[in-house]
Amino acid sequence: MLDLIFPSVCSRCEAPVEGKYLVCDNCLSEMKFLREFSSCGKCGTPFGFFSDENYEGVDAPPPRGESGHLCGRCLRGSFSFEAARSVVLYEGKIRDMILEFKYQGRLGHEGFLSSLMIGNFLFPQGGFDLVVPVPMHISKLRIREYNQSAVLAYNLARRSGIVCDLLTFKKIRDTRPQIEFRNEEERRRNVRGAFSVTSPGSFKGRSILLVDDVFTTGSTSDECAREILKAGASRVSVFTLSRAKGI
Ligand SMILES: [Zn+2]
Ligand SMILES: [Zn+2]
Repeated sequence: MLDLIFPSVCSRCEAPVEGKYLVCDNCLSEMKFLREFSSCGKCGTPFGFFSDENYEGVDAPPPRGESGHLCGRCLRGSFSFEAARSVVLYEGKIRDMILEFKYQGRLGHEGFLSSLMIGNFLFPQGGFDLVVPVPMHISKLRIREYNQSAVLAYNLARRSGIVCDLLTFKKIRDTRPQIEFRNEEERRRNVRGAFSVTSPGSFKGRSILLVDDVFTTGSTSDECAREILKAGASRVSVFTLSRAKGI
């Protein structure tokens, strides 16, 4: 009935749509889903994504999907989170939509972007006590008015029946955009000490799902996970809408 009054249109190109996503088949077909790639069993990075990667411990390119093989960064123990997964590659139309959602106040994209995460939840159900977004510093929040990661986290939590905690984890120091740094060490330094758990009791012994819009080298996710684990969380996994090709 509602469809007769408000026919669904593609969030991207405004063509009419049917089905579970608010995007037409044409726009959807251009998106590349990470589950189609052969990826690291821990950080979820497709093999060959980082320029300094050389398939350590891997004799031949592993099969598609969950390979169980680890990338060089994970073999070196670079990340403190348990696992990281992303839904789509950060490129083309999906990249445009995320940028519009993030910087141009296009909240109309919220439904589609959230549905991608909800429809492609890549962790076992029931494994988490809390969903926590990567926070935004108050000075940026004042300008942009909302944190896109918090919107995604809230929608995902609501649909999965997990509690969403938007208050405990804060960004206490403003940082330069990670994109300005071409080297992983500089990215790590940029976010070091930038996050804080304001009431550690809230995370003690809890299993946390950290949510963000984009995962690039994992420096931000790792810094957040490290801080949350310091506050006594039992484990932290990371789920992002998209994955950018690393540096
Ligand atoms: Zn479209
Ligand atoms: Zn890895």
